[in-house]
Formats: sequence, C-alpha cells, structure tokens
Amino acid sequence: MTNNYNIPAPVFNAIAKDDYKRDPSAFASVTQLCDDPFYVALSETAPAKEPDAIDFAAIALGKAWHDYIERANGNENALIEERLTIDIDGAKITGALDYYNGDTCQLLDYKVSTVWAYQFKDEPGSQYQKWVKQLNIYAYMLRANGFPVKSIAVSLYIKDWSGAKGKFDPNYPTSPIIEMPIQIFTDGIIEQRLRADIAKLKAARNGQGNQCSIINRWERPTVFKVMKGTNKKSSKNLPTYADAKEWADNNIKVKYDIVEHKGARVRCEGYCNYSDHCPGYQKHLKESK
Ligand code: SF4
Repeated sequence: MTNNYNIPAPVFNAIAKDDYKRDPSAFASVTQLCDDPFYVALSETAPAKEPDAIDFAAIALGKAWHDYIERANGNENALIEERLTIDIDGAKITGALDYYNGDTCQLLDYKVSTVWAYQFKDEPGSQYQKWVKQLNIYAYMLRANGFPVKSIAVSLYIKDWSGAKGKFDPNYPTSPIIEMPIQIFTDGIIEQRLRADIAKLKAARNGQGNQCSIINRWERPTVFKVMKGTNKKSSKNLPTYADAKEWADNNIKVKYDIVEHKGARVRCEGYCNYSDHCPGYQKHLKESK
C-alpha cells in the first residue's frame, strides 16, 4: 500500500492493518452479493492495482465509528458484530450484522455517509437501496437462525452535515446522526432475490459479461446544459445538443449558451483497482479516444 499523500505514520499503520478474514468455504459474503457480480468475479481473478492509504479513508472512518459504539455496548441482550451463515441450495452465504437487540427484535446497522445519501435515498442504485437489500439479507439470516426481526433501521452518521443548511432546506436531515427505517421483506422475496444473485455471480465467475451495470459503474451521463444570459444555474439539462437547442429555441427569448458536460464512469475512473483488466472499460477507453 502506498502513502502518496503523506498520511502520518500512526494513521497509515491503522489503515494498512487489514484484519478482515474471508471464509474460504463461503460461496459469497452478503457484501459481495450486494455488489455487481462482474466486479466481484473480476476482483477474484485479476491482479489489483496497488492501493493508496487514502483510498481507505472513508472505510477507516466507518470502522472507527463501529468500534466506538461497540465499546459502549455489549452487556444487554444483544448480538453485536455477529457473523451469520446461511445455505441457499448448497451455496454458503456469510455476513456480519452490526447490532441486533434481543428485547426489541430490532436490527440496526451503523453507516457513515453524506447528506447526499440521505436526500437521494430513493434514486435508483442509491446507497440507501443497497442498505435495504443488505439489511434484509441479514434479517433473513437472523430469522433462519431463530431470531425474530420486528424492525430494521440504519443509524446514519452524516459526516458533511451542516446545521446552518438545515434552516433553509426542509429536506435537509435534522441532525448529524439520524435513524432511517428500512422496509422489511418476506422470506419468500429474499430467497427469490438471493437465488437470482447467486445465479448471476455464478455466471460472472464462468466468464459471462464484460463490465458492471451502468448503476454499479456509477455512470454519470453526458448532459447539455442550457445557460440563459449570465445565469450560473442551467435552465435545463438535456441528453443531446439537438434536444437542448430545440428546448432553448422554444423557451428562451434572450441570449443563451449550450454547454456540454461530459459524462463519466466514476467508479471505473477512480474507485476500481481492477480497471486495467476490465474488458468493458478498456474497450470504452479505446472508443472514446
Ligand atoms: S472498471 Fe468499471 S466496469 Fe470494470 S469492473 Fe471496474 S467498476 Fe466494473
């Protein structure tokens, strides 16, 4: 692991000390089933780029927050950081939940994220949607192991929360730590989805596909922004220049500009250590030269 940003040694040492051990007998972890099957399969066979310590800054903060909460809890009737296992048609799935209260039967997960994750929770592919999936699998595992689940929630620590912004935006979270309820799905629905995810991962491991889905490569499409007069905010964003021009000609009576904002594959470009070996991304790079 490199330290290109000169993180102080004690911090670098903490980040570099990765004590996570994957169960070699497991077909997949819950985290893997919640990721793109192509990405998971590629990460198991392709050599990874050497990561830099800064790549793990967000994960380190999340781990520190977990440890901090864990230190203060543990005597009550609860499961804490409990590793669970289930078998689906011979595929062993493993996962570790954060906190299950045996008295209230609530499953709680601690997340550290941003205001964006809270405000755009209903967008397709949002972090919240992934949490819904992940926590429902944990709930299914709990039930399969004899623990009823009456409610599920995420305790979200919002690292970029600002008290001042909340005064002007009614959709802004009311505090930096907020509980977000999670809808509970039935065992039947979870089993159906697990079987589908297992099948997709098997297919990817057998060589099917050549890149992640648009959502999982965090793709931002190219947009053409119609800028009216000296306004800094665009009047309209459209997918093609022709659409933007047609809209502007019909709706704007003063001078306007159309500015292209190039799209990006955000994960491929900055957050994937296997991108050098990803056929879909390499093809995309060649075609966009
Ligand atoms: S480069 Fe992009 S598409 Fe390819 S595995 Fe990585 S994230 Fe997925």
